[in-house]
Amino acid sequence: MIITKQKTQDDILRILSGKEKIFIIGCGDCAATCKTGGEDEVAKMADFLKSHGKAVTGTVTPDVTCVSAQAKVAFAKNREALKLSEAILVLACGSGVQCVKENDRFNLDVYPGCDSMFSALIDKDGSFREVCSSCGECLLDLTEGICPVTRCSKGVLNGPCGGQNKGKCEVDRNKDCAWVAIYKRLKEKGKLENLKRRHLAKNRSHATKPGHLSL
Ligand code: SF4
Ligand code: SF4
Repeated sequence: MIITKQKTQDDILRILSGKEKIFIIGCGDCAATCKTGGEDEVAKMADFLKSHGKAVTGTVTPDVTCVSAQAKVAFAKNREALKLSEAILVLACGSGVQCVKENDRFNLDVYPGCDSMFSALIDKDGSFREVCSSCGECLLDLTEGICPVTRCSKGVLNGPCGGQNKGKCEVDRNKDCAWVAIYKRLKEKGKLENLKRRHLAKNRSHATKPGHLSL
């Protein structure tokens, strides 16, 4: 899932300065999970904007589905309210914002209400943890499911570096060294020979921007 954090109220007011009629679009998927763009956050944002003299022409939070997939439907269902609007504030990731813009037939100003941070899994305590950097050349088969590109502070491909101390990372002593963790898992599985495989520098052409894949 894509992790987002809401922009500060000051930033949102700055972004919307000069716009009085605002339509708000949330996201029932990742942003709802991050509590940055679900129904509650959309309602709170509407109240906040109204308390600062803005007219909220309408709101929609596509139900449990990514706003990217639902943008067309959301536009069709809210056509009249959108016609009355000057701008759309999107409480979703950057993909959601751009998808809304590409589906906007009224040529409104479309603004982000959130910052996109990274893709992550959800830990048991509910926090979000980045574990993959979408490098385009996955090597998890050789590292027992621990990604050194992302979980090693330096992205070392053939680790550990000389700085690990008692299994902790030299960059952040509170963090386990990814390569020591990889070593332990490989040892447990009797696969230490994987460490003899040298990983060449990543072929960055596999991760050039913008990413694209046709099905
Ligand atoms: S190697 Fe790491 S960054 Fe690359 S695809 Fe696999 S998990 Fe993601
Ligand atoms: S100590 Fe381990 S996790 Fe930290 S930078 Fe070095 S190899 Fe990477």
